[in-house]
Amino acid sequence: MNVYDSARMADVLAPLGYRPVDRPDDADMVILNTCHIREHASEKVFSELGRLRRLKVEKAARGQAMLIGVAGCVAQAEGQEILARAPYVDLVLGPQTYHRLPEMMERLATRGGRVLETDFPVEPKFDSLPQSSAQGVSAFLSVQEGCDKFCTFCVVPYTRGAEYSRQVAAIRDEAVALVGQGAREITLLGQNVNAYRGDGPDGTAWGLGALIRALAELPGLERIRYTTSHPRDMDDALIDAHRTVPALMPFLHLPVQSGSDGILAAMNRRHTADDYRRLVDRLRRARSDLALSSDFIVGFPGETDIDFEQTLALVRDIAFAQAYSFKYSPRPGTPAAGLDGQVAEAVKEERLARLQSLLEDQTIAFNRSFLGRSVDVLLDRPGRRPGQLSGRSPYMQAVHVAAPERLLNTTQRLSVSGAQPNSLEGTLERACA
Ligand code: SF4
Repeated sequence: MNVYDSARMADVLAPLGYRPVDRPDDADMVILNTCHIREHASEKVFSELGRLRRLKVEKAARGQAMLIGVAGCVAQAEGQEILARAPYVDLVLGPQTYHRLPEMMERLATRGGRVLETDFPVEPKFDSLPQSSAQGVSAFLSVQEGCDKFCTFCVVPYTRGAEYSRQVAAIRDEAVALVGQGAREITLLGQNVNAYRGDGPDGTAWGLGALIRALAELPGLERIRYTTSHPRDMDDALIDAHRTVPALMPFLHLPVQSGSDGILAAMNRRHTADDYRRLVDRLRRARSDLALSSDFIVGFPGETDIDFEQTLALVRDIAFAQAYSFKYSPRPGTPAAGLDGQVAEAVKEERLARLQSLLEDQTIAFNRSFLGRSVDVLLDRPGRRPGQLSGRSPYMQAVHVAAPERLLNTTQRLSVSGAQPNSLEGTLERACA
């Protein structure tokens, strides 16, 4: 989402004469687009700001001005604190206000001072954004923002606000533009993307399944993905889309967080471990080769050894293709931060190591199951070595192949010849002269 938002900020700033550069040294303005999910997010922002302050001073000594902005969820959550602790920051803006960047720049230029924009404006941000610039063969498209779930560990409902879904027609127009600029794969984005309920052209509210079905009809769009989903919002129409829409890739990131019903309740996830198992059964009946990925938090307040064993049991039952797992760390302002029963760091570390070992075994087994098989890979970037290209399989595995550069941005059928924990190697099935 932040990659997408950063690209959209560049789109908004382009008419003012700004263009992206590779290094802060070459920039007239640096915007840190921040994420509040990871541990120590704000400390990392302040340490990065310290580096930028030194650069700003050096450039000022050379007679060059450089504006510094902070955007994203840390800006939303800690805007006042940033202005107070970092007096050299010119601009602080939340994730819902970046369409107003031109006005903010105008204010800085005419009135001076500093700008703080962290409200949730009534006008929809997306209606005020210019057309997306080209993102390449694999593009992101934001369809939904915000979240109403209020999981007790999560800051998103406070930093991104209430759930908001874009209209189907606007999404379709943006998808058409992206495909026209060369995209063959589009990943639909939302903090809780499968809660999507957008106004459809027929005057009814469309869910994500109907939206995917409509986008799959666009000529030239080969692949559709979506992220991130909540198990409770996986409705019949979306499951059916996995059964019947070939362009919808057989990979689903579906966070579960824990396998213990007690911990799931304390997290306010509003589903049980067996609800998740049943949902995965339904999804796999719809699409038998569906690869699943998930998020896990270990050491949530009150988590006992038995709770943790239940998480391991769920992982064994499901068999994930990929996963992200973290030790619980309190986020200021979230309900879980004040809960009794905070788990000792050493216990969290030991549990995380056991969970990650199991998840890694599953990823390796999943990748090895492809040895000797054919996969279609969208080659979207140069490889790590000369003469190599890389891309993604339908199941989101990174795949590397020796291939001529002219095959960049095409989909090729590869025979899988090697499987590592984080990637596959393949050979082109049809030799290309
Ligand atoms: S559903 Fe996801 S984004 Fe929403 S509160 Fe829970 S963890 Fe955060």
